[in-house]
Amino acid sequence: MSVTALIVAAGRGIRAAGPTALFPKQYLPIGGVAMLTRTISAFAGHPSVDDIIVVIHPDDIGLYNSAAMRCAARLRSAVPGGERRQDSVRAGLEALSANPPERVLIHDAARPFVDDDLIWRVVGGLDTHDGALPCLPVTDTLTRVSAGRVTGTIPREGLFRTQTPQGFRFDAILDAHRTADERASATFTDDAGIAEWYGLDVALVEGSEANRKLTSAQDIASADELIRLRAERALGTIRIGSGYDVHAFAPGDAVILCGVLIPYDRKLIGHSDADVGMHALTDALLGAIADGDIGVHFPPSDQRWRGVASEVFLKDAAARIKERGGDVVHVDLTFICEGPRIGPHRNAMRTKLAGCLGLDIGRVSIKATTNEGLGFIGRREGIAATATATIRLP
Ligand code: MG
Repeated sequence: MSVTALIVAAGRGIRAAGPTALFPKQYLPIGGVAMLTRTISAFAGHPSVDDIIVVIHPDDIGLYNSAAMRCAARLRSAVPGGERRQDSVRAGLEALSANPPERVLIHDAARPFVDDDLIWRVVGGLDTHDGALPCLPVTDTLTRVSAGRVTGTIPREGLFRTQTPQGFRFDAILDAHRTADERASATFTDDAGIAEWYGLDVALVEGSEANRKLTSAQDIASADELIRLRAERALGTIRIGSGYDVHAFAPGDAVILCGVLIPYDRKLIGHSDADVGMHALTDALLGAIADGDIGVHFPPSDQRWRGVASEVFLKDAAARIKERGGDVVHVDLTFICEGPRIGPHRNAMRTKLAGCLGLDIGRVSIKATTNEGLGFIGRREGIAATATATIRLP
């Protein structure tokens, strides 16, 4: 069952863009992307839609080409529209008739928030009907006003607000449009109106509140704000923390770095297992949530932490991030030492840290450098480590 989306973008949109605007509203950016690009993308990304045709104003060809660039693969050639909306739809349908689809979804460019489920409901309605019309019930009270005075209340029972896309069997709606152009004296504001006039059987499907028509400058501004908020929510807040630690060597036979025991001709001294790598990283995690440092939570004076494995500290810092609804995104650690050699143990350390933090190993970086023989590190008196942690908070 072939489906084409016909997007009507031929209007001048003066209300929204304003008389001094450089171009019509359907080309105004919302959230940094042209409204028409968003509308086209909604259909281009839908599995039921085979291709798309856009009806444009002949003056807008340059604007259209740049708006359509991203979705070019699924677009038929654009068609120039006519005076009225009805004329523009007719022009699009006639262009399609050379290579007609079985079903057509006629949609206003000014509804960029059409969603996948709504498109499915409209396409599905055509399994049993000539047309499918997305609608929402009227919930406000409707009042008739004449010369500035209230003259009556209109019962809202049986009244609905219609939206687009309006779906039709292609042959049926093309006949309806051709006949309306020949015989009807009235102008129709939508295609369901033409279908009803022609006697097609149009089903009602549930519309979507999000699928509102952007008409005024205020509509455009709030759409812009909505997209900004959505993007912010998707990204969350990114925080970066840094940490630094040093431990001194003493005579011994091994050091523990990032939880990995490495045979060496000395050991590191400290109140826990003196894992300088995990200590620097723990401070980086605590820094990202501005929650003090390792010494605040695990004071060296406290006998409980004597000789303890430093992963206790690291996991505690990670849990503090989780408690705030956050996630560790990436960690990067650098050892500064003349020895032991880090390279042969790098992947064992990364695996250990990844396990402690519940991270993919691709998000755990370990690097090493010497100090070129300079200073206390150069004299092999100890090891330093620096760490950076990137986290995401809601
Ligand atoms: Mg330390």
